[in-house]
Amino acid sequence: MSKGMSETGYLSDEELDNGPGIPSEGRRRRGPVAVLECIQDIPCNPCEASCPEGAIQVGEDITNLPHLLEEKCIGCQSCLPVCPGQAIFLVDESSTEDVSRVTMPYEFLPLPEKEETVIALDRAGQELGDTTVIRVRKTDKMDHTALVTIEVPKEWSMRTRAFKLKR
Ligand code: SF4
Ligand code: SF4
Repeated sequence: MSKGMSETGYLSDEELDNGPGIPSEGRRRRGPVAVLECIQDIPCNPCEASCPEGAIQVGEDITNLPHLLEEKCIGCQSCLPVCPGQAIFLVDESSTEDVSRVTMPYEFLPLPEKEETVIALDRAGQELGDTTVIRVRKTDKMDHTALVTIEVPKEWSMRTRAFKLKR
């Protein structure tokens, strides 16, 4: 078994496969869906309250891991900016082209611009390659967190979890 979050600070493939907040490939291919990469039993639950569809369940014991009810998720992005651990992403593998869209919280400045080329990074911070910014979303309600959507090759959709600017 490969080292996991407690040793490396990021999820191993096994943890990803077994996480209760990870949507199936079939669901990801039908359209945008939340990916809850939260596998530590910490007292936390704002994601549950933020979801207008009831698609996230933590329950009364707030140290429970969040469970994603993937068929209820409409990909609205409301849960992404409220997660203090920046552990929620949105993945959309529905394109018939060989590309997927990954949306992630981003708290650095300057923000990237739409259509800017940036470098996709995996969970370990390793470079995957160049990618394009599709959308940058920032509202007053989001405090300091912007949501950035990038387009990546389909095989990177469950690996890309950050990016860095080239400029
Ligand atoms: S993306 Fe929207 S619908 Fe899906 S889990 Fe998050 S808040 Fe709920
Ligand atoms: S808000 Fe984030 S850290 Fe807290 S339970 Fe939800 S996914 Fe986990």
